[in-house]
Amino acid sequence: MTEPSLPHLLQVAVAAPLHSLFTYRAPEKDDGLGPGHLVEVPFGRGRRRGVVVAEAEAAPPGVEIKAILRRVEPEPMLSPALLRLLRFAWEYTLSPPGEMVFAALPPAFHRTGNLSPEKRVRLVATTSAGCAADAETLPERQREILLGLRRAGEVPLTRLCRGKPSARAAVLALKKKGLVSFRELLEERRPRAADLPVSQPPTPTPEQQAALAALSAALQSEGNESFLLFGVTGSGKTEVYLRAIGETLSRGRGALLLVPEIALTPQLIARVTARFGEQVAVLHSGLSEGERLDEWRRLQGGRARVAVGARSAVFAPVRDLGLIVVDEEHDPSYKQSERLPYHARDLALVRGREEKAVVVLGSATPSAESLHRVGAGRMRQLFLSKRIQRRALPALEVVDLKRELLDPLERPHVLGPRLAQALAETLDRGEQAILFLNRRGYSSVALCQDCGQGVRCQNCSVSLTHHLKEDQLRCHYCGLAMPLPRACPACGGGRIALFGLGTEKCEEEVRRRFPGARIARLDSDTTSGRGVLLRTLERFTAGDLDVLIGTQMVTKGHDIPNVTLVGVLLADLGLQVPDFRAAERTFQLLVQVAGRAGRGSRPGTVIVQTFLPLHPAIQAAREDEVLSFMQREIERRQQLGYPPARRLLLVRAEHERQELAAEAARQVAAAFRRLDPEQLSVLGPSPSPIERLRGLYRFQLLVKSRSIARLLQAARRVRERVQTRARLNFDVDPFDML
Ligand code: ADP
Ligand code: ZN
Repeated sequence: MTEPSLPHLLQVAVAAPLHSLFTYRAPEKDDGLGPGHLVEVPFGRGRRRGVVVAEAEAAPPGVEIKAILRRVEPEPMLSPALLRLLRFAWEYTLSPPGEMVFAALPPAFHRTGNLSPEKRVRLVATTSAGCAADAETLPERQREILLGLRRAGEVPLTRLCRGKPSARAAVLALKKKGLVSFRELLEERRPRAADLPVSQPPTPTPEQQAALAALSAALQSEGNESFLLFGVTGSGKTEVYLRAIGETLSRGRGALLLVPEIALTPQLIARVTARFGEQVAVLHSGLSEGERLDEWRRLQGGRARVAVGARSAVFAPVRDLGLIVVDEEHDPSYKQSERLPYHARDLALVRGREEKAVVVLGSATPSAESLHRVGAGRMRQLFLSKRIQRRALPALEVVDLKRELLDPLERPHVLGPRLAQALAETLDRGEQAILFLNRRGYSSVALCQDCGQGVRCQNCSVSLTHHLKEDQLRCHYCGLAMPLPRACPACGGGRIALFGLGTEKCEEEVRRRFPGARIARLDSDTTSGRGVLLRTLERFTAGDLDVLIGTQMVTKGHDIPNVTLVGVLLADLGLQVPDFRAAERTFQLLVQVAGRAGRGSRPGTVIVQTFLPLHPAIQAAREDEVLSFMQREIERRQQLGYPPARRLLLVRAEHERQELAAEAARQVAAAFRRLDPEQLSVLGPSPSPIERLRGLYRFQLLVKSRSIARLLQAARRVRERVQTRARLNFDVDPFDML
């Protein structure tokens, strides 16, 4: 036995918004405690959850070292490779370690207290007819539970039994009588492998074969290698992913498939499950806490070897990970913007290194960052240049709205004559159409015709958007809603009018002009829950809808053969945003949404309405010049000193009081300037493009550097030095520039 004089010290990431790790002593009777274990520790006056991340060499001087209270789960929660990934993530994003570590664990582990596997089980009343009488004859406790259950529909068993010792016996009695039953959520929701039509995988095309051969060689070498799979829309990228996953499994290793949240549709899940059955675990925002825990445990226990999920699934505990696929790697939803601003694609590359896994980033419109990595020799590029079965990419027509909407007296339409005609023909042929508009609501702004001012939110400096159904102006940031004012808030004039367009207005116009068509709209107003989104997509896929109108939600991933027309209502919207990625984003959206058309045997048409027909992003989308457009874009960024050529940090200061926010931003900028004027260039501070948000004033500055290490080091120092009451947000590799 070791001498008792040497305590076993451990570094713990405690679930708290603090920028340090904490040192604790292992409990005397549990010396096997080590990195990866979930523990409970005394913290301040209470107790908190934490994860042991490392052994500690020595105690920090002058601090009382407390003992860890207990180990919560017998097994370590996080593998050494995941712990290394998390350390990278918190250091790189300048985030509190505890918050980052808990982002990798299911929410069920975040709170103190004991977990019960019964959380997963919900209680449901089995019959409703004729039971009113039965209920009267039941003992009081049972009757109470049964009536409560009928009102609530279903209840988690734990909630019912909490603090009521007699409840458990009553539930069991009710179950015996057949009046209630247990429902395990997961079993009902996840398609069982046996229920799915087992599809014979198609024979790979020569291009798919070539890509697979490269991946196969990399998998065989069992080292880390990263690939960019650049394949046009409909070229069979998903099939390449599935075969590569199959090969990984047959080599005895696990795989991770990341997709944008919105692309995590039943169609995709069914496709993956049909291949790999029970080995698949799915992680998405629609899962209950219990379901999430279940899927997590199946992965951690090695019962599931393939994880499919959105952004946060980059931390999924897949055992012996051999392959990571990031589909639609250019998608901005991989970057988390507010808390813990990590980028799942970038972390996937790091995880690949830590796990000695093969990483595949797939896209029809690769990001500037990934193309830059290819150019620097850090990633190999694989191509799928043709659509499956040589289907043509859809022809893209650009319509100049300046010519189409000439007559100022006529009420402008959302659909110009060309698009309206194409839609009529599509509907006549019994085919389907997607109309894409990057703006929710009815009419973008309420403008005063006397002074020209738009009606703006009083908390956030953005225009309010009109919503037809409620006849209200709404702020898309803070949710403020108000009626359309009679008088202009700026000049008092009485001629407020609605200008612009949004998805809701578009829906109204299409309904009016095509009364026979079956129409649905998809945007964040109509899809508050994941269920609505999925049901609408299902109906559209099944052919029960003719026209789908929506925001970016309609641009991703859907593979619907009968869609032959895609209309982009106003391509310029995204180009007006003050963001250095505006052109790249607009280009990607256009190519992606165009890729939804003509995926079946009939050719597709894409009609793009714009006031800027000659803009390079629109021209390049028309000519389908992905690589040359992005090459020029990367050169332009190089000249301007933006990513990927340089590394960027955005610091935002926020406070209710304008002068405090401004002063904090000035202090931060000055601190960076003093620190390293050679290596860092500082832009700003200036008011953020959205100057006020949810009642807070916002000021921001950008810091550029060629060296990420310098940038991070400087940011850490500045954060320690600047004392302010304003909230400071540090965002490395920012996506949200507003
Ligand atoms: P992408 O992911 O590149 O957009 P998908 O993988 O969705 O393309 O493929 C488009 C369609 O082609 C899908 O319906 C898919 O089942 C089919 N497909 C893929 N590979 C083949 C192949 N080798 N032979 C026949 N059909 C294929
Ligand atoms: Zn607002």
